[in-house]
Amino acid sequence: MIATIIDGRAVAARVRAEVARAVEDLVSESGRRPGLATILVGDDPASEIYVRGKRRSSEEVGIADHHRHLPATASQADVAELIEACNGDPEVSGILLQLPVPEGLDGSSLTAQILPEKDVDGLTPVSAGRVLQNLTGLRPCTPLGVLELLDTYGVSLEGAHAVVVGRSNLVGRPLGPMLMHRNATVTMCHSRTADLAAECARADVLVAAAGVPRLLGAAYVKPGAAVIDVGINRTEEGLVGDVDFGPVSDRAGLITPVPGGVGPMTLAMLLQNTVAAARAQFDREREH
Ligand code: NAD
Repeated sequence: MIATIIDGRAVAARVRAEVARAVEDLVSESGRRPGLATILVGDDPASEIYVRGKRRSSEEVGIADHHRHLPATASQADVAELIEACNGDPEVSGILLQLPVPEGLDGSSLTAQILPEKDVDGLTPVSAGRVLQNLTGLRPCTPLGVLELLDTYGVSLEGAHAVVVGRSNLVGRPLGPMLMHRNATVTMCHSRTADLAAECARADVLVAAAGVPRLLGAAYVKPGAAVIDVGINRTEEGLVGDVDFGPVSDRAGLITPVPGGVGPMTLAMLLQNTVAAARAQFDREREH
């Protein structure tokens, strides 16, 4: 079998176009433009590049830029104060604290301070609880992107066996329950899983989010499976995923490339979350 290659860039472009329309609808209805506050602390070059990309993409879809930059010398209290200010600012629909924060700051407790209604990264403990209980709320962007790709390519999750490799708060941990709520039977694998190959080989839908270059080879993949590779690993040969793309694409039914698969989706779903947060805030205000 030769797998169909999932075009994450095309799906992300479609989502961004939908977000741009949703932004303009909201502006004409409410008179208020959705706004994203990216918060960058310090001068880590990689973080600066990520934040710049998020700001540029937001502006492209009409989301207002409320970027804030604090020096690396900022204290925990300084960052906390800024988050509180953004929590209380009606122009700010979504808040994103770029992680990691400089040494000496506690990124988890700062993230936890973001108002759940503005938590467009979906990383606060409240958002995580809402995922688990399948309550309305903002979901983490990468798992949302994975589901969007599966839906776009018509992969049925109902009764399917989904295997997730990785249990980080960013990807694997929220994705497991999100797949379960779509009626998949989910197996969560991680670094202590006894027989990873055997678990993965049972998957109709296999999601790799371990951060280990080419961890999953052809023997890990059931013929015809949908394989979603979240991994982005910098190696001497360039960017590679957690899946050994060549041999696995001869066996899978569907597969995401790296780059060009999940990566563009994460950013698109951040934009979708920001307009969804703005819409929910407007609807709540209208009810009062
Ligand atoms: P992480 O290091 O926080 O978590 C990795 C997880 O994988 C852990 O739960 C660990 O138990 C598991 N793991 C590690 N080695 C394993 C092994 N040998 N066998 C089975 N499980 C193993 O990483 P993360 O933040 O979840 O990111 C994972 C990968 O996804 C990285 O390559 C990262 O760059 C990438 N990523 C991509 C996107 C995107 O937009 N495409 C977004 C987030 C992360």
